[in-house]
Amino acid sequence: MTTVQGSSLLKLAATHRLRRAVLAAVLILAGATLARAELPSDPAVAPPVSAGGVLLPVASDARVVGDGERTRFVLDLSGPVEISAFTLGDPYRVVVDLPEVTFRLPDDAGLTGRGLVTGWRYGLFARGRSRLVIDATGPVTIDGAFVLKGAEGAAARLVVDLVRSTPEDFQSALQKTALTREASNTVGVTKGDRLRADSGRERPLIMLDPGHGGVDAGTIASSGIKEKDVVLAFAEDLKRRLEATGKVDVSMTRTDDTFIPLGDRVRIAREAAADLFVSIHADSVREDHVRGATVYTLSERASDRAAAALADKENAADAVAGLELEPAEAGEVSDILIDLTRRETQTFSASFANTLVGELSNTTRMIRNPHRSAGFWVLRAPDVPSVLLEIGYLSNEEDEQLLTNNDWRGKVADAVSAAMLRFLQPKIAAAGQ
Ligand SMILES: [Zn+2]
Repeated sequence: MTTVQGSSLLKLAATHRLRRAVLAAVLILAGATLARAELPSDPAVAPPVSAGGVLLPVASDARVVGDGERTRFVLDLSGPVEISAFTLGDPYRVVVDLPEVTFRLPDDAGLTGRGLVTGWRYGLFARGRSRLVIDATGPVTIDGAFVLKGAEGAAARLVVDLVRSTPEDFQSALQKTALTREASNTVGVTKGDRLRADSGRERPLIMLDPGHGGVDAGTIASSGIKEKDVVLAFAEDLKRRLEATGKVDVSMTRTDDTFIPLGDRVRIAREAAADLFVSIHADSVREDHVRGATVYTLSERASDRAAAALADKENAADAVAGLELEPAEAGEVSDILIDLTRRETQTFSASFANTLVGELSNTTRMIRNPHRSAGFWVLRAPDVPSVLLEIGYLSNEEDEQLLTNNDWRGKVADAVSAAMLRFLQPKIAAAGQ
């Protein structure tokens, strides 16, 4: 596992304290493959198997102990794994990377913390890689991050020891995070059969983007229902209905419980030369009486405060998953052709948003002023008409009931499908459907 690159490693090892930090960050236990083969077989539960056919270690429980000076995080595993851990600032987090693990944790795992930990998240970060993201109360140092083998070599414990730090010490330890940049550039880009040339395509292509995924659960309702699961189920339903018409092709940015960085979602849609991109969410808002579907398009200035707050929250998805944020517009080129394309795309996005609001209004409850706008990163493709659809709000009890109701979901998916077909009608007609 590459954790720290050559020259920066030398720099980091320059002091004893930092050497210790690096050691703590890169504690590796061998024998993961061996342990997988030794997993005890449970006749009641089929052993979890990865896509590659390997038995996956199971995380069965976790706890946080300690106080505001020193806190220990413990995860029970069915076998030892290789881990690496590092810290991130703004907000203060500790990230633990491990190979793909099956999480069978209690429903409320991670929702609360203790000592230096306010809460934590877990899940698939990329294919074959799981991640824990621990939220800290302030600057912390990783005093140890290791995996203890169990007595029989079967069960194991992942331990992360955190001690309170100062902002200055935290900053100097942050140099290590170059590796997260590397991660952010390599994860989630899925090419292959999704890639195709624009010319020669028979049907228009719709890219559905189920929000969140993996280590980023999105909103978690009071009942424990997670936004990432609700929106994936909705997208799958919608995809089936759209494909049944035979008029359009449909792809999804994710088809399982995997984390995809925001930039990769945009990239996937652009590389596929999608004719329409729809990001699907079911968020929470602070006012729990707010409910109903909402359609968002991109704008530099938000239509209202609530839309701005929602965009901020959505744009933080990469941070939630333990990625260091890339400076937003740094790489964006100013080019007259791109500007023209962008303007034309925005017109198409607004037109689709209006069509979608029209169809949804006949089907389900809408929020007041249902077409809103804000600076959502995921809608930034200059050449793919893009909207973000909140099918409802998990912070509202009535909406939560609807969001988990199959009949309602089917009706709303039909309305969204009708809007998409209407918007794409000129392309469908040109394709001779
Ligand atoms: Zn969301």
